[in-house]
Amino acid sequence: MHRFLFRRIPQFFLGAGVTNGYLKGFIPPGTLWQGPSKGFCVPGLNCYACPSSVFACPIGTLQHYSIIRAVPVYFVGFFVLFCVAVGRMACGTFCPFGLLQDLLHKVPSSRLRIPPWMTYIRYAVLLGLVLIIPFFTFAPWFSKLCPVGTLIAGIPWVAMNPEIRLMVGELFFVKLAILLLVVVLSILSKRPFCRVICPLGAIFSLFNRISILRLSWDEESCTHCDKCTRICPMDISIYKDANSHNCIRCLDCTQCPAVSVHMGPLKVPVPARECAPETMPGVESGCRV
Ligand code: SF4
Ligand code: SF4
Ligand code: SF4
Repeated sequence: MHRFLFRRIPQFFLGAGVTNGYLKGFIPPGTLWQGPSKGFCVPGLNCYACPSSVFACPIGTLQHYSIIRAVPVYFVGFFVLFCVAVGRMACGTFCPFGLLQDLLHKVPSSRLRIPPWMTYIRYAVLLGLVLIIPFFTFAPWFSKLCPVGTLIAGIPWVAMNPEIRLMVGELFFVKLAILLLVVVLSILSKRPFCRVICPLGAIFSLFNRISILRLSWDEESCTHCDKCTRICPMDISIYKDANSHNCIRCLDCTQCPAVSVHMGPLKVPVPARECAPETMPGVESGCRV
């Protein structure tokens, strides 16, 4: 738990603090930051309409370009460079909605395992709801249903602005139901939204196999004890697929000395690589250290 908080608290301040720093926006009846930074995307889901948001959402931007039938050159250039460098690392170290799912999964409950084939659904969401349907309907359908938007934009606006409250219709209740479903599923299973639905995670994950940052696994020292799978927020067995498209590069599995991190040919030193019984129960008997 300590190690979890050590990693995740900076994630919260980096993700939520940097992208949602305009707290004045939450003073009723609410205002929206319209400064020049709104023209830039952060590498995480961040609703443009959130009162505290100072940057744009990459998925909202993609839908916008699909609707106006243009190619987002800046967006593609920035994200290709970013993803070639670190793959899907933003999901494991920056995006606050990933962190929220990790925290919800700490709630004691029975557990539900997500079948691996379901992790491909997010590519269909990317193609369908983000690119193709907005192209033909001229409406940002992913954003209309996105639980992040409901949580950080829809609910705050309805709560603090009487005029917006009057406009609430059936769609708002559909959005609330989707958010509630994601919350319940996050308690039961590891990061269900990131693994099954998120189109931004789908884009990032295309780069995991070619990124400069890579994970490796040492066949000699691995005992196949599967403790890394148990602590992995994406349920990955690193010895089966060290650079899986599902890996969010959170580096939690580097608690096992059989796992190492590389930037190209260079090995990256990872702090506190001892097997930590409090976070990886029993792993000390599985690691040959
Ligand atoms: S998959 Fe999506 S919601 Fe999950 S951490 Fe990545 S960007 Fe955020
Ligand atoms: S925790 Fe380490 S030793 Fe156990 S399966 Fe994972 S990589 Fe191998
Ligand atoms: S394989 Fe390791 S780095 Fe990747 S998501 Fe799982 S714990 Fe994090």
